[in-house]
Amino acid sequence: MISQSNTEPVIQIPAFDVMKIREDFPILKQLIHNKPLVYLDNAATTQKPQMVIDKEKSYYEEINSNIHRGVHLLSQKSTMEYETAREKVMRFINAKYLSEIIFTKGTTDGINLIASSFGEKYVHEGDEIIISHLEHHSNIVPWQLLCQRKNALLKVIPINDDGEIIFEEFEKLITEKTKIISVVHASNSLGTINPIKEIINKAHSYNIPVLIDGAQSVQHYKIDVKELDCDFFVFSGHKLYAPTGAGVLYGKEKLLEELPPYQGGGDMISSVTFEKTTYNDLPYKFEAGTPNISGGICLGTAIDYVNSIGFDSIVAYENELSLYTENKLNGIEKLKRIGTAKNKSSVFSFVLEGIHPHDIGTILDFEGIAIRTGHHCTQPIMERFGIPATARASLAFYNTKEEVDFLTSSIKKVFEVFA
Ligand code: PMP
Repeated sequence: MISQSNTEPVIQIPAFDVMKIREDFPILKQLIHNKPLVYLDNAATTQKPQMVIDKEKSYYEEINSNIHRGVHLLSQKSTMEYETAREKVMRFINAKYLSEIIFTKGTTDGINLIASSFGEKYVHEGDEIIISHLEHHSNIVPWQLLCQRKNALLKVIPINDDGEIIFEEFEKLITEKTKIISVVHASNSLGTINPIKEIINKAHSYNIPVLIDGAQSVQHYKIDVKELDCDFFVFSGHKLYAPTGAGVLYGKEKLLEELPPYQGGGDMISSVTFEKTTYNDLPYKFEAGTPNISGGICLGTAIDYVNSIGFDSIVAYENELSLYTENKLNGIEKLKRIGTAKNKSSVFSFVLEGIHPHDIGTILDFEGIAIRTGHHCTQPIMERFGIPATARASLAFYNTKEEVDFLTSSIKKVFEVFA
């Protein structure tokens, strides 16, 4: 919202009424072990607003049919809704062309697609790929598999004790053999926000393309792929208030044009004979088989929902709640936070002296609090900090300061149980 004055236009952030917003999420109303649910496992998956749930239901009640190939009305309607969702995604991340938006199953699927297709074409024996120590397993293993296939080398940017990448070390890793750099935007286990703009600029000064894993950023920060100038950006719909099983790979059109298909099958072809197949145009070249149609459509609805609240309001509210949480957790004696980067998201990992994280999770569950415990699919990070696991609380814009207060008082209870 922009209000005009005599001098400069002032950006006004619309008011944020968290209690009203909570009304949109039916799951939050339930009791867990007779206590109100406090859902703090948003980095694993987010809850879905009524609007998205209704859309999924109405899709199957009213227009379910396969897309792209039917002349009948239902097929036309579902195709239209699916392609409209693609447009919503394009605008949401400010991509230039619709052809740059590939629907996938999620972040993992998008990374595997690029590791496979880009790797097939551009990575050869002795070549190098750079990732960081902060990566989720899904941004490690696909590259490892590629390196094994091609006899290439996987290099890892080290991190410091706060969980931040060491930029000078990153610069040293780049050689003329580096073919691609793939890094996470916001770490799912430490919350570190990587300096992706600087990484992209540095990589581009050597003409090296960059893939950004946006699984933990697209729901918290305004993403502008044109401004970032990243070559690929992947995310999962289910972390953005949409159903599981639908996600997005953004790629620069020129790069995607040059890449070979990932999977073969229906929809990705323009003609097939036993001798030769020609491929469909983008984005369909990378969308073999019947996709998760309702999932894609509902991703569009989730974007509508987030937009209806206003992204600036979401960011402002989440920042305030994160700061509040950080101060509260820092105030608990014998709680050690893991991941203390200067630039951090609303993900909080911690350990309690002498208590296994799984015990923390179990005791908090009896209070109705859902947090995650374990290695968070980031075993190399756990190894770096010399711990087997952490407890992790991760916020969304429907969480409240009261919930954070309840988390902190319940953590104190965990100490009492183990005293
Ligand atoms: N990268 C990051 C940073 C993640 O947090 C996750 C999910 N925890 C993934 C990748 C994988 O996402 P998905 O399981 O939705 O494919």
